[in-house]
This record gives sequence, structure tokens and C-alpha cells, in this order.
Amino acid sequence: MMARIGKALVIGAGLGGLTTAAGLLRQGVETEVFEARPTPGRLLTGGGFMLWHNVFLSLRRIGLDEAVAANAVRIRHHEFRSDRGRRLARWDLDGPTRDCGAPASVLRRSSLHKVLTETVGDHRIRLGVRFTGYTQDATGVTAHFEDGSSARGDVLIGADGLRSTVRAVMRKGFEPPPRYARYTAWQAITQLPGEDVVPTGTFFNLWGRGGLRFLYCRLSESEVYWDAVTSDRAAAGIDTMNGTRRTALMDAYRRWPEPIRSIIASTEEDAILPVAIHDRPPAGGWSQGRVVLTGDAAHPMTLNLSQGAGQSIESGVVLAGLLGPADTEAVPDVLRRFEETRRERTADMVTTSWRIGTLGLIHHPLLCGLRDLFMRTTFDSIARGQSYSLMLDGRLERGPVLPVRAGGE
Ligand SMILES: Cc1cc2nc3c(=O)[nH]c(=O)nc-3n(C[C@H](O)[C@H](O)[C@H](O)COP(=O)(O)OP(=O)(O)OC[C@H]3O[C@@H](n4cnc5c(N)ncnc54)[C@H](O)[C@@H]3O)c2cc1C
Repeated sequence: MMARIGKALVIGAGLGGLTTAAGLLRQGVETEVFEARPTPGRLLTGGGFMLWHNVFLSLRRIGLDEAVAANAVRIRHHEFRSDRGRRLARWDLDGPTRDCGAPASVLRRSSLHKVLTETVGDHRIRLGVRFTGYTQDATGVTAHFEDGSSARGDVLIGADGLRSTVRAVMRKGFEPPPRYARYTAWQAITQLPGEDVVPTGTFFNLWGRGGLRFLYCRLSESEVYWDAVTSDRAAAGIDTMNGTRRTALMDAYRRWPEPIRSIIASTEEDAILPVAIHDRPPAGGWSQGRVVLTGDAAHPMTLNLSQGAGQSIESGVVLAGLLGPADTEAVPDVLRRFEETRRERTADMVTTSWRIGTLGLIHHPLLCGLRDLFMRTTFDSIARGQSYSLMLDGRLERGPVLPVRAGGE
């Protein structure tokens, strides 16, 4: 006799893992999440975040779009500028919002985490347990943890991020390290009120000479979220040894127009967190029997499209949608189908995001001038069209709302 999935094990309580868990629980599948970090507080750190229309369409499938939107600021324009303050392109996001019925927004990473954590329920998230390996047989899979404990389920979902242990175990250690993009993002949220300084509803994206970029956006009446993106060559001149991160970045961006210097100057030193940017070239083989990778563990990408979390959320909803009604015997087939459904779209995102990042590595002033010209002539039309057809390809992010079923306890 066929039996539905009894229990799902999710490794990693990031956005991808929690979305998958929320989608499974909604369909009555008992789910437990295992997170290596010890305290919920540490899980709730992190900066601001852009979520494009496709992400809200996906969240709608698990009934969470409105809860996330309630914590977010809607973005009406995406504006590209040079480091001299010249406008290169300005995308209207209201039109697509009307057309597809879902907004593009910014919010704190912690707010998104909170909505997902509350949906999944604290009692289903085990903190401070580090996954180390798995064993499986015809009827199920067992996850093993560093503290000697284990858990048994019908499916094991590896949502443990860029440096996934599930991925490493699946590939028996034959796995190259993540690919370094040769730039760093210095992320922060600062207290900086004033619509005249940073207006609400526009996401600013500045491309400079010498391997420097700067992204910023108003997050609330009093807060601004920013990312300074510095190529390795530029970062070589950023001296954090003899001063603070803030003074070093102030120096690197000293010739940039306002409000960049005011934004950096207003930021608390401890709020500035540098992250070296990595991805992995797209590769198949996301599942092995009853074990599957999702989110950054399967398809990590650079930050240039602001789609890494978006794709983790989309993948989580698709995976939950496929697993929810499945029989336990069908799990390996379902996991292969999940990869077939998601591989091409996420590979396109990884590749496009990587290519955009290489534009930011250009140092020579002449080439930067040509890049500005390219952006001025193509970004309002060609690049915008390409971005939107990549983002809203119509098939995946708009599947049916997942049914609510009893169970999941
Ligand atoms: C600077 C920067 C800016 C970004 N901006 C955006 C943006 O604006 N929009 C967007 O969509 N994306 C953005 N991203 C990408 C986004 O952050 C990631 O794609 C997303 O967080 C991936 O989610 P995930 O759940 O797959 O992985 P993660 O968020 O990495 O979560 C993995 C979880 O697994 C846990 N874990 C790891 N190993 C183990 C183990 N062995 N056992 C148990 N638990 C484990 C980790 O502690 C972690 O909690 C940005 C990324 C960066 C670096």
C-alpha cells in the first residue's frame, strides 16, 4: 500500500530551509528543521534585502506574501547612477507590479526570517545541532549530528547554504570550493532619517571607477540599508588595520557624491559587515536517493541580481509543492523532478549575476566611461527587458497555491 511522506528533515534554518519547511507543514507533512547556530538571536542578524516580484508570487503560493509585504518597503524605481551622480538608467517598477500583481520590496533580513520562523514554529526548529552526515536505505534516511544524536525521516533536505555539508557528503568530498568573485560587499544598516537625504521607494545602484560600487535604499523612516561593493584591487587600498572600517570606506568613497559619504559616516562601526562574494558554477546532481539540495546549497549566486534568497524561496516552494502530495516510495523520483524543474532557471540566474559582477571589476577610467555609455544606452530597454524575462518567466513562480492539509505535528 502507498503511504504519504511521514516526516521531512530540513538541514539549515536559513530562508531556503524555512520556506521549504513552511510549504511542507502547510500540506500536513511533519517537518523538523536542524540548525547549527546555537541561538535564535544569532539567526536574526543580517542586513537589508531586496525581494523582487517573483519572490512575492512564490510566497503567495504558501500564503505568506502579505505577511512579508507588511514588513517591507515597496520599491517603485531602480535607479542606476555613475560615481559622479549622473543618472544612467531608471527602471519603473510600478508597471510590472501592476502587470504581475506582486511588488518588489526591501526589508530587513531578520524580518523575513521572523515571519518564516513564526510560521514554522520554534518547537520545530532545533538550534545548535550541526549536521555531519547521512545514511539511507529503501525506506528512509537518517541524519547524523555532531553531538551524536540522529533523526530519521522519509526525505532529507539540505538547505545549509553556500558551504553545504549535505552537498559535501553527497559528493563524498570531491567538490571544489565555492568560486570567489573577487569582490567584497560591506553591508550595513544605519540610522539616517530624512526623505531629502534618501527618498523612500527608490533602490539606488551606483557604478564607479576603480572597482567600486555602492547600493543603498531607505528601509524605514529612520533607517537606510547599504552595500559598498569593492573589487579586490580596490580593497587593497582600503586600510582597516590602522583605522576603522568606517574611516577606511569613507576614504575609499571620498570623491563620491552625497549622500554616499553621509550614509557611511552615520553608520556604527560594528554594523559594517564585510562579506566576500562567492557562487558555484551551475552543476547538476542535486539529489541522491532521498536526499536533496536546495537554496544556496544547490544554486548559490552572486548578489548582483538580488535573487539569491529569491531563488532559495522559489526552490523551497517548488520542492514543498512536489513533495507535499507524494508517496514515500516516490521520493527519489520527486527529487529528480525538482532538479529538472529548477536547474535551468537557477543556472541562468547564476550565470547572468556572475557576468554583471564582472562589469564592476573594470578599473580603467576609459573602460568605465564605455561601461557608463553602455548602461545609458541599453539599461532602460535591453537590460531591463532581459532582467524581467529572467525574473518573471511565468511558469515557475506562478504555480498554484499549495493546499492546506491537516497534520504536520
Ligand atoms: C551581501 C549580500 C547581499 C545579498 N542580497 C540579497 C538580496 O538583496 N536579495 C536576495 O534575494 N538575495 C540576496 N543575497 C543572497 C542571499 O543572502 C542568499 O542567497 C540566501 O540567504 C540563501 O539562503 P539559504 O537558506 O539557501 O542559505 P543560508 O541563508 O546560508 O542558510 C543556511 C543555514 O544553514 C545553516 N547550516 C550550515 N551548515 C549547517 C550544518 N552542518 N548543520 C546545520 N545547519 C547548518 C547555517 O547556519 C544557516 O542558518 C545576498 C547575499 C549577500 C552575501
